[in-house]
Amino acid sequence: MAALRCASSFWFLSRGSALTSRLTRTAIVELLDRHGLEPSRALGQNFLCDPGTIDKIVRLAGVTATSHVIEIGPGLGSLTIALAESDATVVAVELDRYLIPALREVVDGLGSSPVTIVEHDAMTLDWAAVLDPLAPPDTPWSVVANLPYNVATPLILDLLVAQPRFQTWLVMVQKEVGDRLAAGPGSKIYGIPSVLTAFWGTARVVAMVPPQVFLPQPNVDSALVRIDRHETPPISAPFESVERLVRAGFGQRRKMIRRSLSAFMSSDDIEAAGVDPTARAEQLDLVQWGQLADQHRSAT
Ligand code: SAM
Repeated sequence: MAALRCASSFWFLSRGSALTSRLTRTAIVELLDRHGLEPSRALGQNFLCDPGTIDKIVRLAGVTATSHVIEIGPGLGSLTIALAESDATVVAVELDRYLIPALREVVDGLGSSPVTIVEHDAMTLDWAAVLDPLAPPDTPWSVVANLPYNVATPLILDLLVAQPRFQTWLVMVQKEVGDRLAAGPGSKIYGIPSVLTAFWGTARVVAMVPPQVFLPQPNVDSALVRIDRHETPPISAPFESVERLVRAGFGQRRKMIRRSLSAFMSSDDIEAAGVDPTARAEQLDLVQWGQLADQHRSAT
């Protein structure tokens, strides 16, 4: 891909015979300068400035013209313009009001754009109020985002619980967070986010991303994680019951569950659930957590 020229905030790139627009490092520096902006560390502002990585995200997310896409934290629009180029319906939710004029400039530069910009905290947004006017409530949405790293885990877990319409996720997170979301039992990194994510879907790390593709560069490696929501959860126990036990079990992860779960269940109850009371939380898979939750519910 060759950069041809920088017009306003875009760099136009030739890709074979097609002409496409991407924010490059130079374009981002120019945008920040012109709008008097400094990237905020508190808001996790590390902007993507590598067209190859941006295109890879859109490809791995499987975004097409019929997709409905939510981008959390569009920043200056690096990923937003690639999503818009696919002609998908795009909703971009940005918390930082100081970035919004620059983001609007970038998105408006696309001409007729399918992007709806929402200035709000994604953690507290009334999603139905934003999405219902755009598509029927049973429409599946994809979350495609370079997430703010400091809130990535709670954001993903909260939205998996609260927004069944968010069916697929392709998100950039800190590498350790990605590994943890996708981890299975028996490893040191298997923890609360691993089990709770497994309740709702299948998580996989699909690519590693080096710090050099961001401006400014973070001092951690990053990973692209894909989450595909299950049609129905693989266990019958209610999420809240499983979550309560998982949090207690991993709260004291070095202890045997007969100790860490003693406020909820006796050793006999654990055995009746078909689980070894001397096991540790990190050894139990989702099905076993479900068995414990079912037993706990039947005994109370
Ligand atoms: N998508 C842009 C990119 O790839 O260049 C920016 C990604 S940057 C890692 C994270 C973005 O999320 C920032 O623009 C930040 O202001 C925004 N952000 C941080 N917390 C947020 C929240 N709670 N809700 C919505 N946006 C948030």
